[in-house]
Amino acid sequence: MKLYNSLTKKVEEFVPNVEGKVGMYTCGPTVYHYAHIGNLRSYIMEDVLEKELRFEGYDVKRVMNITDVGHLSSDADTGEDKMLAGAKREHKSVMEIAKFYTDAFFSDCAKLNIKTPDVVEPATNCIDEFINMIKVLLEKGYAYKAGENIYFDTSKLDNYYVFGNQNEDELMVGVRDDVSEDENKKNKNDFVLWFTKSKFEDQALKWDSPWGVGYPGWHIECSCISMKHLGEYMDIHCGGIDNMFPHHTNEIAQTESFTGHKWCNYWFHVHHLNDERGKMSKSKGGFLTVSKLCEDGYDPIVYRMFCLQSHYRKPLVFKEEILNQVADTYKKLKKRIAALSTEGDIDEAVLKEWHDKFASEVGNDVNTSMGITLVYDVLKSDLSDAAKRAVIEDFDRVLSLDLLKEEKDDEVDDELTTFVEAKIAERAEAKKNKDFAKADAIRDELLTKGIAIKDTREGVVWERV
Ligand code: AMP
Ligand code: ZN
Repeated sequence: MKLYNSLTKKVEEFVPNVEGKVGMYTCGPTVYHYAHIGNLRSYIMEDVLEKELRFEGYDVKRVMNITDVGHLSSDADTGEDKMLAGAKREHKSVMEIAKFYTDAFFSDCAKLNIKTPDVVEPATNCIDEFINMIKVLLEKGYAYKAGENIYFDTSKLDNYYVFGNQNEDELMVGVRDDVSEDENKKNKNDFVLWFTKSKFEDQALKWDSPWGVGYPGWHIECSCISMKHLGEYMDIHCGGIDNMFPHHTNEIAQTESFTGHKWCNYWFHVHHLNDERGKMSKSKGGFLTVSKLCEDGYDPIVYRMFCLQSHYRKPLVFKEEILNQVADTYKKLKKRIAALSTEGDIDEAVLKEWHDKFASEVGNDVNTSMGITLVYDVLKSDLSDAAKRAVIEDFDRVLSLDLLKEEKDDEVDDELTTFVEAKIAERAEAKKNKDFAKADAIRDELLTKGIAIKDTREGVVWERV
C-alpha cells in the first residue's frame, strides 16, 4: 500500500506500527444538520481506503467520533456552538438534534455503501477522558487558565505548524472573517481545551470540572477518543482537507504534548467537493444531501461512482450533467455484468492474479478510477463468464458499487417511484394547460435519468431503459 502522507507531503510505502494491523481514526460528523454530499465525499474515500487495506489482508480497527458538543461556528473557537444553533433552529433539545442527525448520517452512509466504523463514540460519552488530558497538559505546562477558560499554549511547541503550510498572516486576527480576537489568548493560535465562561450563557450541555462547570473544546475529543480505542500509537488519521488546520494541527499538539512522543504516522486528507460557489458547506446553505439526490431520482450509488472516478487528492466539482453521465455509464456497466452467465471455469490462480493487480493499482494511493478501469478490463478479458463474475465480486469488496446486485433496494425503488409519479403528474398538468413544450421537456428529463414513459389507453406507464 502506498499512501500520500500530508505530514511529509510525499507518497510513502505504508508500514503499520504492528505488522498486519492498522489503527485508523476518522473525524466524524458534527451532528447539527444533515451531512451534505461534500462531507460524504470524504467518508466515501475513507471507506475505500479502509476496504482496500482489508483487501490487502490488514486487520483494520477503525474509530470515529461523533461531534455532539464543543464545535463552534468557527473552527477558531469563536461563534455559536453548532449543536446549540441546530437545536434553536428546530426547537428541539441538543440531544434530540444529535440523535436525529446521527441516525440520518448513518442512514446516508448505508445508502452509499459506507461501512460503519468498528467503534463510533460521541464526544459527550468521554468527558472524563477530556478532563484527564487537560489536567495533564496543565501539569506539564502546555496549558494555562485565562478568563476562566483553559487554553493550549502553542508557543510551548518547537513546531506547532506540523503540516508546514500555514501562512501565519492569513490567520492574523481580523484578516480572516472567522478569526476574531479573544483577549485571553497568549498567542493567536492558542485554542480552548475547556470553556467555563463562554460568550453564550445558554450553552445547553455543561459538566463539572476542576476548573468550574463548562464544556470541552472541539479538538480535544478526537485526541481522547482515538487514544481511548487505539492507544498512544496510531497508523492513519483521516479527514477532509479543511480539517488540517486548525483541527488536526491542534489534535497533534495536544496528543503529543500529553504522551511525549509521536502519535500518528500517516495523515490522509480528502480534498473538497465544490459547487459553483466553491466548497460545499453547511454554513452557506443550499447544499445537496443524499435524500435530495434520491428525490431527484438518482440511485445514491451513482454518487459513489461519481466520487470514485476522481482522485481523492483533487478538488471535485459537482455538476448535474456529469452525474447524469455517470448514471448512464453505471447503468450500462451493470447491464454488461448482469448479462454474464454463471458458466465456465474458475481458475483460482488467475483470480489471485487479478486480485493482486487490483491491490497494487488501487493500493497506489487509493487510485479508485483505476479500480473502475480494471472492472472494464475484466469484462474485455478472455476469462469465462463465471470467472469474470468472481473477479468483479472480489473488486466490489473495495469499490462497493453493487456491481453484481441485480435488484435495486426497495427503498431506492420507492423513492424513484415517488419521483417519477410526481413528474408524470406535472406533465399531465402541463398537457392540460396546453404547455406541450413543458410536457416534452419533462419526458426528456426522465429519459436522461433512464426512465421512458408511454401514453397508453390505460394511462401513462413508465419503465427503466
Ligand atoms: P463536519 O460535519 O462539518 O465536522 O465535517 C465532516 C467531514 O466532512 C470533515 O472531515 C470535513 O473535513 C469534511 N468536509 C466538509 N466539507 C467538505 C467538502 N465540501 N468536501 C469534502 N469534505 C468536506
Ligand atoms: Zn477530529
